[in-house]
Amino acid sequence: MSVKAYGAADSAAPLIPMEIERRAPRDNDVKIDITYCGVCHSDIHTAHNDWKNAVYPVIPGHEIVGKVVEVGGAVTKFKTGDIVGVGCMVDSCLNCEACTEGDEQHCHSRATMTYGSPDKVSGGHTHGGYSQAITVREEFVLHIPDNLDLKAVPPLLCAGITTYSPLKHFNIGKGHKVGVIGLGGLGHLGVKFAKALGAEVTVLSRSPGKEEDARALGADTLITTDKEAFKSARGRFDFLLNTVPVPHSLDAYLRLLARNGTMAIVGAIEPFQGLHSGSLIGGRKRLVGSAIGGIAETQEMLEFASRHNIVSDIEIINMQDINRAWERVMAADVRYRFVIDMESLKD
Ligand code: NAP
Ligand code: ZN
Repeated sequence: MSVKAYGAADSAAPLIPMEIERRAPRDNDVKIDITYCGVCHSDIHTAHNDWKNAVYPVIPGHEIVGKVVEVGGAVTKFKTGDIVGVGCMVDSCLNCEACTEGDEQHCHSRATMTYGSPDKVSGGHTHGGYSQAITVREEFVLHIPDNLDLKAVPPLLCAGITTYSPLKHFNIGKGHKVGVIGLGGLGHLGVKFAKALGAEVTVLSRSPGKEEDARALGADTLITTDKEAFKSARGRFDFLLNTVPVPHSLDAYLRLLARNGTMAIVGAIEPFQGLHSGSLIGGRKRLVGSAIGGIAETQEMLEFASRHNIVSDIEIINMQDINRAWERVMAADVRYRFVIDMESLKD
């Protein structure tokens, strides 16, 4: 079936209307009419080929919520009319050690990402949520708790799980001092989750103008990323969640960690230069990376968000306004996530 979408034809092209094919549900598939889709900085990295692995056309979008309109004969967890979500992955082997331990994002045969990934079953490559509909096998579909404001839920499915997962993995909670570096889509949800887990939260931002927002989001304080502030915050944090979307010097941030502290990189996925091992050796510090989260953990995150009433702070846009929205994301001028109202794609 052919549906309307927006995509990029090459790395320099703006997003334009396109028609794409969606498969009829197989036995284990759920067909979803997309209601809202979030705009992640990764959408831009992919379309611009920053990671050197883009296949065109790129139809981005991996923060998808919508309504089930059809299910395959073997589907047990979903029925027509359910409100559901799809995040960054749509398939994996479900057999390897990573998959069976709930880390499908680290599948040994490589998970199939929601867009721009080779589709191992259908051939071709996957297309994401900047579109009217998507068909996904049920294991990769999530239940959306019904107490949450639906239009503010999509960012939980990438930005949310990407920040929740490392906080949980490193058992962050009461008594911990957490610093969230970069107050954007990931960062603002990192603040909300770290706070809800009981930590004392500081935002580290280039933008002093975000201080009031940081507090409103639940942070205890904001410090700017300048020399003076860095000096005064030396050795302060047990855990740093680094969401900066470009390579940068890590040493200055590592100095902010307390003894045995950990910095998790969840932002830029690119070569970083000039890390001094002394920044880790002194104080027995850890530098780790983290990629989204598994499906069960994503469902757990949604239930946690439901209990703590956590959704994204969003600005709703029409599909036709996407190129302008991307410019604003690149200028760090979004408070704090754009969400596309897919109704607009009908126009
Ligand atoms: P975003 O909304 O653009 O937020 C990034 C924030 O980082 C900005 O708001 C800004 O905050 C700060 N920043 C921007 N440019 C900077 C620069 N040149 N130097 C220092 N700080 C800068 O992006 P996002 O959607 O949160 O995504 C952040 C990164 O995470 C992207 O690279 C994305 O690809 C990646 N990502 C990774 C995963 C994963 O699984 N690991 C998942 C999703 C996204 P301030 O104004 O406060 O400084
Ligand atoms: Zn994302």
